[in-house]
Amino acid sequence: MLNLVLFGPPGAGKGTQSERLIEKYGLVHLSTGDIFRANIKGETELGILAKSFIDKGQLVPDEVTINMLKSVVNENKGAKGFIFDGFPITTAQAEALDAFLQENNQSIQLMIALEVDETELENRLLKRAEVSGRADDADISIIRNRIKVYNQETTPVKGFYEKQNKLACIDGIGTINEITTRIFEQINAL
Ligand code: AMP
Repeated sequence: MLNLVLFGPPGAGKGTQSERLIEKYGLVHLSTGDIFRANIKGETELGILAKSFIDKGQLVPDEVTINMLKSVVNENKGAKGFIFDGFPITTAQAEALDAFLQENNQSIQLMIALEVDETELENRLLKRAEVSGRADDADISIIRNRIKVYNQETTPVKGFYEKQNKLACIDGIGTINEITTRIFEQINAL
């Protein structure tokens, strides 16, 4: 199995690059943000709870997110591997994921961390809001809060994988193809 963590601030290009990875390696894409949004749309209990955090640019509590992730992994038993997109983004989530994969004799092979400066992120998200219809992309103060939360709570997760020699930092500025090539080089070197 090939299990990858795709990491980076909002607007770094995780969704776009996930599509390339799915196509090339046949992996199951597991985006916690997408799953939350599907639940919000379906007005499920999980969706109603998640919405109260997401609309403010805050993280959904770890326990809720971890349980949701485990159940989606368990629903995809025959997968060749997973791209974890938007998860783990706290150290508690990273520890829970390691423990969960270990129970299933699996592990993460690589964390791909896309790096993009803050001004570029703000511009990309405001532009994305024009087509995505996402309320959390349309408001500059919510965007800044998401980036602040990323810097404070999420960046330490890089250190978690760095300690395990599994961190690949990728320059996230360039054309989509250039960034895809950088990512594939790291995976092919495994
Ligand atoms: P994203 O689509 O990755 O930008 O995520 C949108 C929102 O969903 C985030 O701002 C968080 O509120 C929530 N979210 C996504 N992934 C997680 C996670 N792993 N842990 C907690 N909250 C999350």
